[in-house]
Amino acid sequence: METMYTLPKLPYDYRSLAPYISEDQLTLHHTKHHQAYVTGANALFEKFDKARKEKTDFDVKATAKELSFHVGGNRLHALFWKNMAPAGNGGGGLPKGDLAQAIDAEFGGFARFRQEFSTAATSVEGSGWAALSYCNETGRPLIMQIEKHNMNTFPGYPLLMVLDVWEHAYYLDYRNDRAKFVDAFWNIVNWDEVGKRLAGAVKK
Ligand code: MN
Repeated sequence: METMYTLPKLPYDYRSLAPYISEDQLTLHHTKHHQAYVTGANALFEKFDKARKEKTDFDVKATAKELSFHVGGNRLHALFWKNMAPAGNGGGGLPKGDLAQAIDAEFGGFARFRQEFSTAATSVEGSGWAALSYCNETGRPLIMQIEKHNMNTFPGYPLLMVLDVWEHAYYLDYRNDRAKFVDAFWNIVNWDEVGKRLAGAVKK
């Protein structure tokens, strides 16, 4: 097992989410922003190793906060890349099977789910994420907002689908128009992947 994080490869080409996410936007987001969280988390690991070996102190409280930010950033981006696919080639369309049923049962139909999820995404204050989660206790899919990469998460609730609404996710393509980016996202959602994650969550 690796003891450090590595930047995961995208499951598709940098050009293949265009026009919804351009090659430039996706390249920058993956190779610079996602990489920064991987690098940030690894730098903290090095700091832990060094301090523990040399028996020196570090600011545990501040470091714990930084660690959750970088690890959260890495995990959320890794999931985000996987829950998208090129439009018409795995991306877009409608959820199927058990996922479609779960959405219908909870929201009364896909249109309502899309509307609520989009509103969650556009209304995140500052930098953050919209996420679809699943509660094993009630069997209900839940829409949540994650502030930054680590605030307002529900411990132990698996994430089925996430949408990055940090400005760095869309500014090159959509400037300040987050709603337009959120609208575009539905063309590239990989519903098979989201459905697989639901199946895995239900089993547990
Ligand atoms: Mn991002």
